[in-house]
Amino acid sequence: MLVEAVKRVSSGREDPGERARKYLEEIEERDRDLNAVTYVNKDAPEEVSDEGRLAGAAILVKANINVEGMPCDCASRTLKGYRAPYDATVVKRLRREGAAILGLTNMDEFAAGSSGETSCHGPTDNPRCPGRIPGGSSSGSAAAVAAGFCDAALGTDTGGSIRNPASHCGVVGFKPTYGLVPRQGLIDLAMSFDQIGPLTRTVRDAALVLEVIAGPSPEAEGTVRRSEVPRYSELLDPDEVKHLKVGLVREFLEVSEPEIAEVAREAARALERSGAEVEVVSVGRRLVDLALPTYYIINYVEFFSATRRFDGRRYGRRIEHACGREVLRRIVAGAAISRQEARGKYYERALRARTWIRSKLLEVLEDYDVLIGPTVPKPPHRLGEKLSVREMYEYDVLTVIPNLAGCPAGTVPFDSIRVDGDEVPCGVQVIGRPWEDLTALNVMAALEGAARFEP
Ligand code: GLN
Repeated sequence: MLVEAVKRVSSGREDPGERARKYLEEIEERDRDLNAVTYVNKDAPEEVSDEGRLAGAAILVKANINVEGMPCDCASRTLKGYRAPYDATVVKRLRREGAAILGLTNMDEFAAGSSGETSCHGPTDNPRCPGRIPGGSSSGSAAAVAAGFCDAALGTDTGGSIRNPASHCGVVGFKPTYGLVPRQGLIDLAMSFDQIGPLTRTVRDAALVLEVIAGPSPEAEGTVRRSEVPRYSELLDPDEVKHLKVGLVREFLEVSEPEIAEVAREAARALERSGAEVEVVSVGRRLVDLALPTYYIINYVEFFSATRRFDGRRYGRRIEHACGREVLRRIVAGAAISRQEARGKYYERALRARTWIRSKLLEVLEDYDVLIGPTVPKPPHRLGEKLSVREMYEYDVLTVIPNLAGCPAGTVPFDSIRVDGDEVPCGVQVIGRPWEDLTALNVMAALEGAARFEP
């Protein structure tokens, strides 16, 4: 895995460019079927370094994060031909630690989706259960990690877009506390939710990438909290669960399909066997019922506002003339809500609901170090199957909650379930207190050690 590979490269036992070369071959050979990668950087083997915390690492980046010279198009015709003029802060940090950017990954258009099907480059397949969606919106990042195309990938998570595809593809995904990782250089979906985070094969690899990209910088925007970043990968300790109190959220189980709920229950039992104190806890049905409407109203309004710069004058095309249906739906609805806002009917109420959800969740987290439950309540559908808007949004009900509260949350592959004859990976979600990202990672590491999932 990445952590071991870095050690081999730093100690001179492995040629630094070797893995990048191998991954380029894999992508060339196998991505035609998968469609996880939208751009390949042939120079990556020469761009890695043999020094740094990510010496020799080859990393793929979601196509809504600026990587200098690469086509950062958010998988939208709106930005066709646009080349990023600079590196996002997170990209600079990866390079500074010896990594190379191997290329860009496919995604739902402007990160607005949960299936990976709305990209202008076409849908991504799920390497672990071909013919089914990989989840989204960081569909290409999750599929690429699962397929062995890179050491790690960056994704973005506004309402689940790292955790959802990670769960469906059987990889680790982590959404940091809001404000831990700079968003500078990320093209917003909804800026008060968006966070950049890692998708990897192991929890320790995710911890390593996180410690490199996290933390304040002079160029980073004011939402990044100024504090020292712990060396998560060195501090990571699955045995820490012996001292932790874990809440298995009853309502998360209730809204999930039975097999998926059972995987989360089994994960809770595994933590108990590892010495954690585990209880079933209630966050209240109202919190879960309010989550989706609250999230989507705020998402629509912030997205509408963020897209006003895509008017075709400075770059790309006018978004309304070039985008797909889901993006257009959000722009039209966001505009309508903003126009009617004088009456305070939707947006203001959504902001109040968000504050309530946050305080309610934090109140529960006073008694529990982490909360666990399913990541996605339903298994991934078959590619091409038509879902209603409502059905599509229902994938997000459990992942939007940590974003509404600003909490760190990750998913770890735990088991697989059978869906119409297919073996489908199923992850378990771990939610921590804000700024206690390490605690969430420790619980994920303990689950990883007990997992029945075999890649
Ligand atoms: N599926 C959610 C949405 O469409 C989350 C997207 C994301 O996290 N980027 O908004």
